[in-house]
Formats: sequence, structure tokens, C-alpha cells
Amino acid sequence: MLLLSETEAGKRVIIKRVNGRSSFRRRISEMGFVTGKEVLVLKNAPFRDPIEYQIMGYNISLRRSEAALIEVVEKEEAGELQQQYNGTLTFDKKIIRDLKPIKELKVALVGNPNAGKTSIFNAISGKQEHVGNYSGVTIDAKKTKIHYQQYVIELTDLPGTYSLSPNSPDELYVRDHLLKMHPDVVVNVVDSSNLERNLYLTTQLIDMDIQVVLALNMYDELEKNGDVLNVDQFSKITGIPAVTTVGSKRRGCDRLLNKVIEVAENRDPNQRHVHINYGPELERSINIIQKKIWEASNYVREFSSRYFALRLLDDDSHTKENIQYLQNADSVIKTADKERAHLENLLHENAQTLITNARYGFVNGALKETLKRKSQPDQRSVSQKIDQLLTHKYLGFPFFLLFLWIMFHGTFTLGQYPADWIETGVGWLGELVGSLIKEGPVKDLVIDGIFGGVGGVLVFLPNIVILFFFISLMEDTGYMARVAFIMDKLMHLIGLHGKSFIPLIMGFGCNVPAIMSTRTLENRGDRLLTILIIPFMSCSARLPVYILIAGAIFPDNAGTIIFSMYLGGIVISILTAVFLKKTMFRAKEAPFVMELPPYRVPTLRSTIRHMWSKAKEYLKKMGGVILWASIIVWFLSYFPRTNEQIAVLENNLIVVENQIMAGDLECEVNHHEIQPIDSLVALQSNLITAIHHEQQYNSYLGRMGRFIEPVIRPIGFDWKIGVSLLSGIIAKEIVISTLGVLYADDESGSELSLRSAIQEQTYTHGKLTGQKIYSKPTTLAFLVFVLIYIPCIAVIAAIRKETGKWKWALFNITYATTLAWLLSFLVSKVAGLFF
Ligand code: GDP
Ligand code: MG
Repeated sequence: MLLLSETEAGKRVIIKRVNGRSSFRRRISEMGFVTGKEVLVLKNAPFRDPIEYQIMGYNISLRRSEAALIEVVEKEEAGELQQQYNGTLTFDKKIIRDLKPIKELKVALVGNPNAGKTSIFNAISGKQEHVGNYSGVTIDAKKTKIHYQQYVIELTDLPGTYSLSPNSPDELYVRDHLLKMHPDVVVNVVDSSNLERNLYLTTQLIDMDIQVVLALNMYDELEKNGDVLNVDQFSKITGIPAVTTVGSKRRGCDRLLNKVIEVAENRDPNQRHVHINYGPELERSINIIQKKIWEASNYVREFSSRYFALRLLDDDSHTKENIQYLQNADSVIKTADKERAHLENLLHENAQTLITNARYGFVNGALKETLKRKSQPDQRSVSQKIDQLLTHKYLGFPFFLLFLWIMFHGTFTLGQYPADWIETGVGWLGELVGSLIKEGPVKDLVIDGIFGGVGGVLVFLPNIVILFFFISLMEDTGYMARVAFIMDKLMHLIGLHGKSFIPLIMGFGCNVPAIMSTRTLENRGDRLLTILIIPFMSCSARLPVYILIAGAIFPDNAGTIIFSMYLGGIVISILTAVFLKKTMFRAKEAPFVMELPPYRVPTLRSTIRHMWSKAKEYLKKMGGVILWASIIVWFLSYFPRTNEQIAVLENNLIVVENQIMAGDLECEVNHHEIQPIDSLVALQSNLITAIHHEQQYNSYLGRMGRFIEPVIRPIGFDWKIGVSLLSGIIAKEIVISTLGVLYADDESGSELSLRSAIQEQTYTHGKLTGQKIYSKPTTLAFLVFVLIYIPCIAVIAAIRKETGKWKWALFNITYATTLAWLLSFLVSKVAGLFF
């Protein structure tokens, strides 16, 4: 066997075959290295890398390791080869110039013991190798060559194995065969009556990124059991072309060979490389190790770096040897060891088990969607029993709604107590600090700006932490994966897949990581669509607004109202998806397997870590952007202090105060009343309030508010709500801190909590002056507006980054804000009919 890497300079050779995994072959064939082509070796000095070739008139250099994957024959030999295969090969000096390939295929049979590999081997070869009910006694591969269509197929029957983690010599043998002999197509023979177990090996083949055809053998058994498998759907979602066979009766063998050829020629539409999703923590580690591998300049794409990373996480000593050729092998291994320790420490589980569980999750998910069992086997695992209930056709959905409701109710009610303590604490601290500072702008800044703004948001820390507790509970137990499953049917109706639902649920926490997590979606259209609807998922920054506003106006039904907000967000995102699908994204969605990993009892440690990190983030946000925004909002609402109208009011105030003083004096001197003092005092207090309102109204912020007020007035919002919404674009919590600043110290002297300040707010201008702003309809409209309108700038930036285009970010801004206005308007009008 002559390899291109070993061919001397100056020689002309013909490419016989290209080895290596499919992505390597694809790339190299795009460069022109395909069977039958002539290559001239330009420069090939020993130990020199890369080597230079000429192919089809182009000069191309290849790494030595890459060239070693290309088998060639000398030009003179080509004629002999043709004779050897006696006409099956169209290999001729004249035809070489016409680039006719030699059609030769290496095919290997792998599968569990007793899956029927040897039966199929015999059926295809016409030989009589021993079939039997025992697993490999001798580690040996039987080979045969057959002619089929225009191909010479070299078929190898490998020993039976349950996995490719080299626990036994058999497994190591099979794996080495796959990695070193480079079969063009691997036929994975499985026992269809026991798919759960048999498909485990298939997941490992998927990870190796080699071309696989699945022989669903013993299909007679499956049918006898009365089960029904949707073979086509199975192939679609796993990316593995499949054929049903009955090896013992030689049924299906021709279809199997046809499929093998189709796959070898890349003609099967279902054939696709999928990534088994190992869950966020493992995926993160895999990615880190992969990056380390890519750092090596001599990394050969012959092997999948993802596969290596997984094997290293699995602590596989053979893989450690296999990657020794990498320049940075040591640091790759060190990185993998570190990641493994990190995972085991975080998840309290052996890395091997974690990987195995995820693989079974993939298998379960694939079967759940495609296999209808008639008989339920008795020995179901606990996970499967729970799944029967939680992913039940009819019960699954109500269960999910119930969980959501518990989550939001719990967030609201449980959070209330610590929130009250924080509120009291902040109020007390504010008074203490206030008493230490002299009257004047500095005191106003500290009390109204900082305590009013940041304090108002800080109160919601417990709620946020509780929300994240529930979300991490859903993730860690494995329920999140089931949610994707339950929602799949529904998601298909809107042209998306259940898998898109996980980023949506994550959006409840924060939209930014949710948008980034859409990277797990393969299809670009799916991904874009999912990104565009994520902002309608109520993130945790919107929660404080709901809690504050709903809690103030609907104290008895706040939990339900908040829950409806979340639900409403889901509905809007669904409708948006339908709308976009009908108009802009007509492409078909790519099918997926939704992994159903076994349920796990979450560890307290990882849950607490999760909560703590969220709490830390929240506090950081508080000390950073919210603090600054509060200060800026305060400045803008505090200055300028005066104008003509205010001056008039202030003069009046002085007059009244003088009268009060004079009255007091006169009363003392003459011992009788000239004017009722009470009405003067009332006048005084009214004037103070009027000045305060006028000052806010006249401030820079007030002017901005007045500018936008005409737009939002139809919904019932005044300018203060307007500017709070405007500043909320920085971060949604700032809606609250702005209201906190604006409502602080409204009635001079009286210390109102933000909640009662909201209840007391009245219009200060226009024809509704004096009426309460937060009527029930307006409050609902406000909540709806906060739910829908522009997400915060971080989300806009994330959309821009992940879609690569400003267009989509701008689309989101316009669409969301227009929709927010229309729906709020509608809600305020409709609710007006009821309240
Ligand atoms: P291997 O260990 O994978 O090579 O499996 P064998 O080819 O030795 O087959 C194991 C047993 O299963 C033998 O008794 C076969 O006759 C039987 N067998 C193979 N294929 C089928 C099939 O499609 N249906 C049924 N019912 N039995 C089969
Ligand atoms: Mg056998």
C-alpha cells in the first residue's frame, strides 16, 4: 500500500482512496483529491512539512499527516489493478484523464454481541461463518470481498461490543479498527427488539463522526412484539440512515448495501452529523478541551476533536496515547484532568457516569419520539416511570403549567418576607444617613437618588434568588429536557422544534445567556427565529417591576397576575414565531433528538452555587449600572430648579408663610383670630406640593417626559411612567429605581414606601389632574408594556452579536415597541370595561 506522504518527489501517482473521517474527506475532495485523479509530487524531502503537490494544474501543499491518509497507486500499476478486478473497475489510462473513480468501499460491521452481525455478514457474502449465541471468543475480524453494482465492497465482521470505551480487548480492537483502518461506511447492526441498550454504541459512533448506516436487525422480533418504529423519522432526527433487516432470513441485505452506497456517495438526505448534547456543564468543558487541542499546529482533522475531548473527560488512557502526537499533548491532558475534576466536584458524579447518562438521554429521547411500544416491559427504570407521567400525552402539559405556577407563586410569596425585611432595613438606614446630612441638594441626592433608586431595586433580591432556585432546580433534575419534549408538538405547530423551548425557558432567568444558548440549534433559520422571540420571555429583571406594581395595586392576586405575565410572554413569542415563519422564515426546520437524561436529585451545593452567583450578579448590577442610572435620573429630575411659574409659586409660598407667621404674632398680641390659621397651613402644604411637581415637570427629565407623553397618554401613562420606561431600556430594574427617585419625598415630610407612593400617585397635569394614575386598567397596561417593549441594551447587543446583523436588533426594537404600545392600549381599554 503506497501512501501519498511516502511518494518521492517527481513521481506521478493516481489516488486510490482517501481515508480519514468524513469532514476531512469532504475538505480534501473539495481541493481536488478524489479517487482516480493524478497527482504530481513536487517537493517531498524527508522530515519536511508540508509537502507540495500538483493536482489538476494547481499547486497545493498538504501536511505530511494529511497526505498519509491518502492511498495512491503508481501510474503504471493502474492498469494491473483494472485487470485484478476484472472489469468492475473502469480504470484505464485513457479514462484516468476523464477522472473516473475506482469504486472500492471498505465497510465494517459493528454492534452488540448477538445483534446479528455474523448473520448479515453471511447473508451478504454467501459464506457460512459460525453464528451463535456467545460473545467473541477469538478477537478476530472476518473479511470478505463482494461485487455489488459498480463497487467492490470489502466487508469486515468485527467482534461484538457494547461500547467503544476500551474496557475489554474486544472493544479496543473494534475501536482501533475504526480509527486506523478507516472504513468508508460503518454498518451498525442493532437488535431492534432491544433498542435502548443497542443504540448506546450508536451514540459513540455519532461522537466519532464517522459515516454510519444503521441496520435495524431482528426487525421481525420488533414486529412480533407489536411495536411500531418510525424508521424515517428516526433517521431524520439522529442523522443516521437506517434500514430494517432480518439477518437470519437474509431479508433486507440488498437494501442495506444500497444504503451503504448511497451514504458513501453522500446521497442520503437524512445523513447528517449531529452533536449529542451533553448538557451545559459538560459542553462547556468539552469546548475548553477542544480549544486546547486546536492550539496544536499539528492537529490533524482526521479525528474529531470533540470525540477526543469526550474520551479525555472519560479518562481513557488509550486516547491519551493516541493524542501524544500533538505538540501540546501534555497540556491538553492536564486541561482535561482539570475539567474532569471540576465537573465531578460540581455535579457530585463520576464523569463517566455523566457522559453515559447523557448518551442514554439521547437514546431515550430519540426512541420516545419514534417508537410506539405495544407492550411496556416491566423492568422500567424509575426515570421512565416518572417520565410516563411528566411527558404524558395529555397530563404532561398541565403538569408543566402547574410547575410554572408554583414557581412564580413561590417566587412572589416566599420572597415577600425577606423583601419586607430589606425594605424596613433600607428605610431605617436611609433615615439614619439622612439625619447625618445637612438639608440641601446633597441630602436629596443621597436620600431620593441613591436610597430611593437603588434601595427600591435591592428589595427584590430575595425574589430573584428564589426564581433562580426554581430554574436551576428544573435544569439540574432533568425536568427542563422533558419540558422541551412536552412542548415539541406545540412548537412544531409554530414551525419550531421542542429544543428551541429550552433557550426560551432560560430566558426567564436572563435573555442574554438564553440568546447565546441558541448556539445548540443547528439550523440557522431555527436559531434566528428563536433568538427573535426570546425577548418576550419575562426575564428576572422584569420580575421586580411586576412584583412592585402588581403587588401595590392587586395585593390579593399579585401571584396570579405575575404568572399571567409570564404566560402572556410565552403566547406572544409563539404568535410572533408563527407570524415570522409565515412571512420571513419559510425554510423547514431541522429535526432533532431531544435528550431525555435520567432524573437526578440535584445537589444542594450546585443549587446554592447557582443561587449565590445570581445574587452576586444582581448585587453587582445594583452597585454598577443601577446606581449610576439612579444618580443620573436624580440629576435630570432635580435640575433646573426654577422657572417663572415656580418663582411665582415660591413667592406665593413666602407670602403665605409670612401670613402664617404674622397671624401667629397677631394672635399672640391681640388674643383673637384674624384669619383661620388652618386654611393657611393647608394652602402652604398645597403650594409645597405644587412647587415639587412643577420642579419635576420643569426638570430636564420632565421635559423629556413631556416630549414623549403625547405618545403614551392614550394608554393612560403620565410623563413619569414614560421616563421610567425610557430609562428601563438600560436595564429593566431601572424602571423601578426611576419611579423610586421620582416618587421619593413626594408629599414633603411624609415618608411613603414606594408601594404606597404608587397607590397614591395622581395626574399632576392635563385634564385628569388629581385622579389616580394607577387605576386597574392602566396598571395592567403598564405591566404589559414592560413585558413586551424593547428588551434592555444588553439583549439588543446580544441579538446583534449572535445574528451578526444590526438589522435583526433594529427589527426587534421596532417590532417589540410597536407591539407593546398596541397591546397595552388594547389591555387598558378592555380592562376598562371590567373595572
Ligand atoms: P452476532 O453476535 O452479532 O454476530 O450475531 P449472530 O449473527 O451470531 O446472531 C445471533 C443469533 O441471532 C443467531 O441465533 C441468529 O440466528 C439470530 N438472528 C440473527 N438475525 C436475526 C433476525 O433478524 N431475527 C431473528 N429473529 N433472529 C436473528
Ligand atoms: Mg458474530
